[in-house]
Amino acid sequence: ILWPEVELIRNEFPILQQTVNGRPLVYLDNGATTQKPVSVIRSMQEYYTQYNSNVHRGVHTLSQQATSAYEAARHAVAAFIGAHHHEVVFTKGTTDAINLVANGFRKAILKEGDEIIISGMEHHSNIVPWQLICEEKGAKLKVVPVTDKGELDMDAFRSLLNGRVKLVSITWVSNTMGTVNPVKEIISLAHEQGIPVLLDAAQAAAHIPIKVHELDVDFLALSGHKLFGPTGIGILYGKESWLEKLPPYQGGGDMIKQVTFDKTTYADVPLKFEAGTPAICEAIGLGAAVAWVNKIGIHKIQAYEHQLTEYAVAALKQVEGIRFIGEARHRSGAISFLVGDTHPSDVGVLLDQQGIAVRTGHHCTQPLCDRFGIPGTVRASLAVYNITADIDKLVEGVRKAVTLLG
Ligand code: PMP
Repeated sequence: ILWPEVELIRNEFPILQQTVNGRPLVYLDNGATTQKPVSVIRSMQEYYTQYNSNVHRGVHTLSQQATSAYEAARHAVAAFIGAHHHEVVFTKGTTDAINLVANGFRKAILKEGDEIIISGMEHHSNIVPWQLICEEKGAKLKVVPVTDKGELDMDAFRSLLNGRVKLVSITWVSNTMGTVNPVKEIISLAHEQGIPVLLDAAQAAAHIPIKVHELDVDFLALSGHKLFGPTGIGILYGKESWLEKLPPYQGGGDMIKQVTFDKTTYADVPLKFEAGTPAICEAIGLGAAVAWVNKIGIHKIQAYEHQLTEYAVAALKQVEGIRFIGEARHRSGAISFLVGDTHPSDVGVLLDQQGIAVRTGHHCTQPLCDRFGIPGTVRASLAVYNITADIDKLVEGVRKAVTLLG
């Protein structure tokens, strides 16, 4: 796979330049979190060394600088996903964004007998918040089954849509199998029946171009740390009409217009959902991360990763006894597998000794693992800075692990 730019890209990631356990680091745990380019690290250092100050309430220069940078980051993320800036709420991450919507539906929408549709490949963060509110409101959680190939059963999805369904909340990309779901089709089928859709874009944002207005999606959640940005920051995109309709998530400073002991009025969206001092530095870091991705180009990233994923799947197939979990037609950077009877974590430990970072276990998708009757998988997940040499080392490492584990 020829892409000379990738070497320049790698040079922008200081962490990739080190050895781990005496071997050059091979980082293949990008589904858990991505590494950060120097531009992101620098943007955060500049904030703390030059204009650290609280946002929105200050007349002094530093506070105005901090406010502009924080709001510029919102504009940058909004542009990145094709949204208006006032439709972008800063959250702690995907989990927080989903909980924000769940809380709003609990208070303003959901009634006894209503239904919410999720899928069998959801991360726990797109299961548990809905379980909690369904339990409380006497509503039902309906689950779109996953096929043997690790795709959504779309016929089953169609048959689950009915007048009782208040929301479809589905992941764009499976964090365990890398399956890319047919989100356009899901949205149009749900909309035909007037049902809104939330997309969990945690595993899509660093790999697939996102255009929320084109998709006509109602809500979309993503995490900064899986998009080359810092932890502790993410966003909820919501259509303006939805953000207006949902009640505040938390109460506190910054989310109000006027407070009296009799009645409080709320700030306009998105600030209505941003109570308290936000993660200012992290938001600025996320803005820098988005700028970094734009510099490379998300379409180029997608094309390169597509080739790299195909290369990896083909190379891993050569290992005797390997079994893939998830062989979808459309896939993004995550590859899950098991080798013979070896336990995923044993493989993970042996790979770590060779400087190769993968994730093992259930990847916060226990129902999916139950569906396949497995305790978990070994998951290699790619990002734009990975190269074929990383894959070659992974395959060699897996072979070694299999030999050692008998
Ligand atoms: N959804 C998916 C598909 C994920 O992969 C993850 C993170 N592994 C999350 C949600 C939760 O993201 P966060 O922990 O950043 O809130």
